[in-house]
Amino acid sequence: MGIETVGVIGAGQMGNGIAHVFALAGYDVLMMDIDPAALDAALGIIRGNLDRQVARDKIAPADRDAALARIRTTTTLSDLGPTDLVIEAATERETVKTAIFEDLVPHLKPETILTSNTSSISITRLASRTDRPERFMGFHFMNPVPVMQLVELIRGIATDDETYRTCLGVVEKIGKTASGSEDFPAFIVNRILMPMINEAVYTLYEGVGNVESIDRAMKLGTNHPMGPLELADFIGLDTCLAIMNVLHDGLADTKYRPCPLLTKYVEAGWLGRKTERGFYDYRGDTPVPTR
Ligand code: NAD
Repeated sequence: MGIETVGVIGAGQMGNGIAHVFALAGYDVLMMDIDPAALDAALGIIRGNLDRQVARDKIAPADRDAALARIRTTTTLSDLGPTDLVIEAATERETVKTAIFEDLVPHLKPETILTSNTSSISITRLASRTDRPERFMGFHFMNPVPVMQLVELIRGIATDDETYRTCLGVVEKIGKTASGSEDFPAFIVNRILMPMINEAVYTLYEGVGNVESIDRAMKLGTNHPMGPLELADFIGLDTCLAIMNVLHDGLADTKYRPCPLLTKYVEAGWLGRKTERGFYDYRGDTPVPTR
């Protein structure tokens, strides 16, 4: 199936990156959010990121201008009705995503493919709440979307081969690389990454190391570009906690229990970079460890 128009739901850090890469690859993008301020902010971020790509000679100024001209925004979900592919990247809460799909489905063309960028929620369960589980998939981008090469493609139990092949073609057209995953909690990347981050928080909680020593150990000792606590701040501690809860509930194994210290940071509203405080405090010129 030919994909020309793409609807992106949610204009947060993932939604704006997704809109950016699709527009640059030549797709017409309609970005939707319930919050008009989020749409304005997303357009500003996309413009800034495209400018940076121009400054680094990665794209020509004409590519930037064409990409920006291909992005439209709306706060009305039904406007996404005529699109060929929908990528939902709203807040990681199942009730939010289910309500979006239920509200959207009556407005869609029968052939439109629905996808979710969820980090951990069951694709099969989300698909079952729509009229087209065979044309529903997980389309999982990594953060920051314009920079990261991988897209995880997750098949629900009912996803048909044509949908999978179409999405694979889209991943190639945006210049990224797909990795297939079966639909089990948190898929592949987060199934492995989040328990490591959670273990880093336990290491901090139990006093084995402090924020600096843990991040330095993992950066220099395992050649990771970021330490696990720095990475957790980058992802968002609320998102990390939500994924650990999905692993814990979905696999019913105590080895996935979220560290109480992670819960405490989230309860404090210290969610990482997006709130300027997490395992590091970002309010000054350089990040300062908070423990
Ligand atoms: P975010 O908090 O930055 O943005 C979420 C956006 O969704 C907000 O702008 C919010 O206004 C909007 N929203 C909420 N309810 C909505 C609704 N009913 N309709 C339309 N928009 C709505 O979150 P994010 O980090 O961009 O994450 C979005 C999704 O991407 C989540 O499912 C998350 O698990 C997934 N994801 C996140 C990362 C990451 O590193 N942050 C990586 C991969 C996947």
